[in-house]
Amino acid sequence: MRTKNGKYSTPYTRSLIKKYLRSIYKATGKSPTFRDVNSIPGPSSRTIIRHFGTWTKALKASGIRPHTNQLMEDEKLFIRQNWKEMTDKDIAEKLGLTSEIIKYYRIQYDLWKNRKGTSDQKHKKDGMKAYGKNCEICNISITELHHIVPKSTNINDWAILCPTCHSVITRKLVVVKNRDDLKTKLTPYIKSIYKNIRFNLVANPDSDNVST
Ligand SMILES: [Zn+2]
Repeated sequence: MRTKNGKYSTPYTRSLIKKYLRSIYKATGKSPTFRDVNSIPGPSSRTIIRHFGTWTKALKASGIRPHTNQLMEDEKLFIRQNWKEMTDKDIAEKLGLTSEIIKYYRIQYDLWKNRKGTSDQKHKKDGMKAYGKNCEICNISITELHHIVPKSTNINDWAILCPTCHSVITRKLVVVKNRDDLKTKLTPYIKSIYKNIRFNLVANPDSDNVST
């Protein structure tokens, strides 16, 4: 095989190429580029691509992140296994990445609902303290926190609802713009669909008087 210098040498193996790429990565602190490879003695970028198919595949096979913000498979696995227990910052520190990329990955894969230690969990706890453990409309004990005003941190914009009552709002069957609407709009709607089923409507007039 001919090298860049036009000399013949023993052919490079995949494992030698991987070692070579890792050593460049270690020396430069970044993913090796074509330019790096072609300016440092060793296999040419063409040789590397011939062995691995693509540049990205060669880097990944060598355990090197192809782009600064790209996650490696083992990192994705780590996030999937730990996102509930660890904060983004903890995961980022552990993996040596920025927390933005962790957050982006979680959002992309819907890995954030009911997460431990997030504001949503804290909000639900606070909301239940204010509005009770059960659905404010139908008194079912499996509940979710509904943000009447999206992302609001004001407790007056929250409601504790069961998945059914919640879905009536999220499916826009009833428009609830404030906590008063829960009683004047959502309750009648739920009553009407459940009229043949006996259930325990919550009559809790005090729940409107929560201070901010
Ligand atoms: Zn309900």
